[in-house]
Amino acid sequence: MLEKMVEKLDTEAVIQEFETLSMDAGRVQRETLMKILEANGETEYLLKWGLNGRTDPDSFKACVPIVTHKDLEPYIQRIADGEKSSILTGKPISTISLSSGTTQGKPKYVPFNDELIGSTMKMYKTSFSFRNREYPIGNGKALQFIYSSKQFITKGGLNAATATTNVYRNAEFKKTMRAIQTPCCSPDEVIFGGDFHHSLYCHLLCGLVFREEVEVVSSTFAHSIVLAFQTFEQVWKELVADIRDGSLSSRITSKSIQSAMAKLLKPNPELAETIYNKCLGLSNWYGLIPELFPNAKYVYGIMTGSMEPYLKKLRHYAGELPLLSADYGASEGWIGVNINPKLPPELATFAVLPDIAYFEFIPLENDLNALQVSGEPQPVGLTEVEVGKEYEVIVTNFAGLYRYRLGDVIKVRGFHNSTPELQFVCRKNLLLNINIDKNTEKDLQLAVATAATLLAEEKLEIVDFTSLADLSTEPGHYVIYWEISGNADDELLQKCCNCLDSAFLDAGYVSSRKVNAIGPLELRILIRGTFHKIMENFVQLGAAVNQFKTPRCVGPTNHKVLDILSNNVVKSYFSTAY
Ligand code: AMP
Repeated sequence: MLEKMVEKLDTEAVIQEFETLSMDAGRVQRETLMKILEANGETEYLLKWGLNGRTDPDSFKACVPIVTHKDLEPYIQRIADGEKSSILTGKPISTISLSSGTTQGKPKYVPFNDELIGSTMKMYKTSFSFRNREYPIGNGKALQFIYSSKQFITKGGLNAATATTNVYRNAEFKKTMRAIQTPCCSPDEVIFGGDFHHSLYCHLLCGLVFREEVEVVSSTFAHSIVLAFQTFEQVWKELVADIRDGSLSSRITSKSIQSAMAKLLKPNPELAETIYNKCLGLSNWYGLIPELFPNAKYVYGIMTGSMEPYLKKLRHYAGELPLLSADYGASEGWIGVNINPKLPPELATFAVLPDIAYFEFIPLENDLNALQVSGEPQPVGLTEVEVGKEYEVIVTNFAGLYRYRLGDVIKVRGFHNSTPELQFVCRKNLLLNINIDKNTEKDLQLAVATAATLLAEEKLEIVDFTSLADLSTEPGHYVIYWEISGNADDELLQKCCNCLDSAFLDAGYVSSRKVNAIGPLELRILIRGTFHKIMENFVQLGAAVNQFKTPRCVGPTNHKVLDILSNNVVKSYFSTAY
């Protein structure tokens, strides 16, 4: 009891601290840059650019170039290979994070350290404080669909795993989860179980065992929550049997999970009966989450950007429970916090925490051509961004990244005190492009959503989708891959294909289509389960399921994903819209 009281977070103090920081965001940014450069001024990288100990923004921008991951890769590789000198950071780096690299199919290495752990915990606490003000929770538990990725040791002896895995295995994570009243209801053996199918099954089972205590259902990205309840639909009778008999299904073969679960499972026919009846009483699984977890207050996870297409399904499972969209961050560090959790996910914005890193923004001026900025970009500072404009995000963090292009496009929606509130727009490099056309991930998402309304008339849904700019034909053409929830007839799919082609409104696309400089759009229908295979492929490569994002556009070098796609096509249609 005493321990709980001591640990409990003073949410009003956290909010007050955020208010103070955000009121003077410009000064806080300068101080943050100074701290980063003081700690790392003697590194090979900063010495190379002749900063000579200066720590002010003007000198920093004049000396140090804006870079991409590719530019820093050789330095990061030397660190991973075990070179001990101060290459990017003053303090040695002992851990590497693997960021998803979904488009080109190759995970990227980024340095990870205690400072990133510190800022992650700060982010969790700030976000929780705002959330809890609107949706207070008690001292219950969270059903968190979180998974460890493959962990390995680099050639130089550094631990390497996805950023979320690096966070979960840090002692601070559990402490913070207790402080924010959402300890995970699954034991560590389930989170770190190795096989994600086993972990997912046991997360569901733990959630059911603690069903009265579960107050929050969450994951990093919304996709994992949807995947969890889709799996529930398949395995629910087995879960009920496990609860009734107090024994674990033989499908779970991991010894460590078996013994951890044995401590939780006792025969409970009454609970089994309750769950069984609740499931039978549902219509097409609508409202499954509140039915299973009667004290849940909300569903929580990143629901913006490439997660938006899963919202419909998530809303179906959540019934009347609110969906709260989580914060904005990356393996490279956190950026902004959702301080308006009451807004629907489609409108979520992220207020930048000005002491978490040093931020710059390259203006894109709502001009898609500017997405491929030529020459030296002219970024502006955090407090200089303008409402309504789009920018590419540049990060300088406490873990050895200096003026690093994150690859994301954001739009400034407003200011909270003097720090901007950002809306996530899309990944910058996810671009369908054949000649003068340019369609972003967002354009693709909108086109797919438009065509999906035709399917909805027949009670069918798009399970997932991706795309390809196919240059192997003359002229090149867009290929859209769909996995759908049931069988649609040819006439309907041909209509969907035409609708997709007409839904790309970019002037470059429309004019190219009219003169056949871009060929008819092709819709390829995939076998059920194809996107599951794609996810498994990324997990094999070291991705964590809870960090997984379906690649919305497959790059030409992503041979493995291209192979999976082409081996699973059942039907294909060419547009006759032009
Ligand atoms: P990762 O490469 O796994 O570290 O993922 C980081 C990327 O996920 C970011 O650069 C964004 O593109 C995306 N992301 C992270 N948070 C959000 C968010 N709240 N909304 C939309 N996309 C996000």
